[in-house]
Amino acid sequence: MIEDIFCEILKGERKADVVFKDKDFWVIKDINPQANIHLLIVPVNHFDSIKEIKEKDEAMFGRIFQVADRAAIEAGIDEKGYRLILNEGQDGGKVVPHFHMHLLGGNKLGPKIVN
Ligand code: 5GP
Repeated sequence: MIEDIFCEILKGERKADVVFKDKDFWVIKDINPQANIHLLIVPVNHFDSIKEIKEKDEAMFGRIFQVADRAAIEAGIDEKGYRLILNEGQDGGKVVPHFHMHLLGGNKLGPKIVN
């Protein structure tokens, strides 16, 4: 794992292309896009992993899909579709230790979700 880049972005210590933010989530463009549109949905509060999400956080995390929908609408890909990916832990391929969800679209994605 590398240092928490997303906390640095949220604190304004590192530049990012922010496409949307509200009290709970920021949506930023991935620095190394894997599709024509590759956004990262990042909670403002730091969660190292899914394990840290407790009952009190469930309503907030329930909103992540509304945030994804809004980001997809703003990116103009809500009708054609997109893929949400959440990497967890080492085998899941997680690199940045701050919970985040990937939103990929803007082109037809391959049939495989793992390789
Ligand atoms: P993970 O593999 O942890 O699920 O995904 C981390 C993502 O963060 C990767 O897709 C990577 O390209 C992206 N990323 C790494 N460093 C930065 C950065 O400094 N800024 C932005 N916007 N994205 C980053």
